Amino acid sequence: MTEIDYQDLAARFGTPLYVYDGDVLHATITGLRAVLHPAIEVFYSLKANPNISVFAALHHGGARAEVSSIVELQTVLTAGARPDDIIFLGPGKSEQELRACLETGVYAIVCESFDELDDIERLGAELGKVQRVLLRINPTCAISGSRLTMGGKPRQFGIDEAQVLAAGPRLAEYRHADVAGIQVYMGTRILDADVIGKNTRYALDLAERVAAETGIRLEAVDIGGGLGVAYFEGEDDLDAADVAAEINPMLEAFHRAHPATRLIMESGRFLAGRAGVYVLGVRYVKESMGERFAIADGGTHHHMAAVGIGSFVKRNFPAVLLTPRAAGEDTDDTVEPGPWTVTGPLCTPNDTLLKQVKLPDLRAGDLVGVLNSGAYGPSASPGLFLSHGFPAEVLVRGGAAFLVRDRDEPEDLLRKQHLHQPLTDSKESEPR
Ligand SMILES: *Cc1c(COP(=O)(O)O)cnc(C)c1O
Repeated sequence: MTEIDYQDLAARFGTPLYVYDGDVLHATITGLRAVLHPAIEVFYSLKANPNISVFAALHHGGARAEVSSIVELQTVLTAGARPDDIIFLGPGKSEQELRACLETGVYAIVCESFDELDDIERLGAELGKVQRVLLRINPTCAISGSRLTMGGKPRQFGIDEAQVLAAGPRLAEYRHADVAGIQVYMGTRILDADVIGKNTRYALDLAERVAAETGIRLEAVDIGGGLGVAYFEGEDDLDAADVAAEINPMLEAFHRAHPATRLIMESGRFLAGRAGVYVLGVRYVKESMGERFAIADGGTHHHMAAVGIGSFVKRNFPAVLLTPRAAGEDTDDTVEPGPWTVTGPLCTPNDTLLKQVKLPDLRAGDLVGVLNSGAYGPSASPGLFLSHGFPAEVLVRGGAAFLVRDRDEPEDLLRKQHLHQPLTDSKESEPR
């Protein structure tokens, strides 16, 4: 893979900047597919990074699409995904979204409630279509080991396992909503192949139990995913080969018993996470009460994931200095290298991207890269905070850089607002 010249990208596109390595995206999806059982298809969850060119790079490597909004649906269609390789998932789908699914002819709607099933039935009748539906099931039991467990709890997602099993033959009676499989998503940020294995075992067994109890066909079984990326010290990346060693035998057995069933795995973070770097320009360096600060031009409004929500102790994403240093520079043996606290331009102490990390001596004009930032970056962050807007995004493929999203300009942010000007000659504005 070619080295990315961040200095050059920063000069051309400005900072803060998101840089995605298209070669890494491609290698990650092809590498995963190469080790997994050929019967399983990998669907990219656009939620993780909805950039159309990020999807295109993954799609080029064989990823299908899992979408949750009209725009995500339009994104993948524009990038060339076939309707047959798209599933639409999410609680609280709008009528407009369901209509778009039927009109597009997506492979399946992942249905999250019985009422939604009735809506799909009604729309199907109206549009004269039969729509394949996978029932999302909220599993009775949770398997520990993921950073966010989905099963075994009251949830807004899906239908409880017990309710699905109790629904009996009624599920097979819909004419236009063709219930033909299940989906289960049991957790995210899983770094243990063994946990993926247990989740997969559960999903495959559940599919067979549901089919036996309710009589639905199993045209597709979506086993979820949740493959993680190591962000923090002490974590190790999940090895795709370990995942394959765990689940391939189960997939093989299931595939033998149900050769016509499509097997689906969903993945967002694992596919996109390691391909992204959030590039910051250091504006000022200073010391406050013994702590060294680098105040950068980008912050948490583009990278909420790096804030470390949900943990009391601030844990840092991996970060590096991207500015080359001449040999012999910064080798002052009398000072320990770092630690540095890297903050952004927001007027809140929470705008701390990196807390006391080891970095070489920083100075104004340096570029710092926050690594593993390709998933849940700008699209999952409050980019409008302080009206900074979203950063530009660049994709690098085979050494060439492509601007794949424009930076928000002031007029982009102002255009959506409407001035209501209090009348200056009215009594209201007179001082009392
Ligand atoms: C968020 C989500 C995904 C993607 O999760 P990752 O951890 O990014 O792989 C997949 N499926 C469902 C149902 C989700 O909600």
